[in-house]
Amino acid sequence: MAHIRTLIPITPTRTLIAVLALLLSLALPEQSAAQAGPHLRVLDHVLKAVLDRGTAQSPTLQKLVAEIETTRILVFAECSMRMPSGVGGRMNFVTNANDYRFVRIAIDCMLTERWQITLLAHELQHALEIGRNPDVVGVEAMESLYEEIGYPTSREGGIRHFETEAAIIVQRAVERELEGRGTPAALAY
Ligand SMILES: [Zn+2]
Repeated sequence: MAHIRTLIPITPTRTLIAVLALLLSLALPEQSAAQAGPHLRVLDHVLKAVLDRGTAQSPTLQKLVAEIETTRILVFAECSMRMPSGVGGRMNFVTNANDYRFVRIAIDCMLTERWQITLLAHELQHALEIGRNPDVVGVEAMESLYEEIGYPTSREGGIRHFETEAAIIVQRAVERELEGRGTPAALAY
């Protein structure tokens, strides 16, 4: 079975500029538009369908999505075609704007649906770790938070990666709720 990792890369702000510009054009045409509508926005319709089927089967995933809607955070989730080898999901902090934190989740949509659902749950847990901590308004505060609640897993160039026990527990809970449906889900790091 493929060895699948998940990542929380903490990138120096400079290298996020291209992503930030893209998301601002998608998400912030005007201030009111950013705050209207769901806090979790799935940018690919296929991944959106996977999430919908996942929430129908998994009360844990359902709870994560519900809590996202109550926090001052906007979560953009999409399929990634350029995931590093062996990485199934990751979450990036994008920016803080109009009192909302923006994070981006990428999932490897070449994986089975069951894997994608458990990885979505894992990364949504990370989004909530940001959402529950209003002080996290930038990459430095995010790094401090993860030094406190998580542990470093790797460093590549200037990028540090972290993991949390909570995300692994959530992912396993969702795996159990999906039990008996398809192949075993991915391991998370
Ligand atoms: Zn993780």
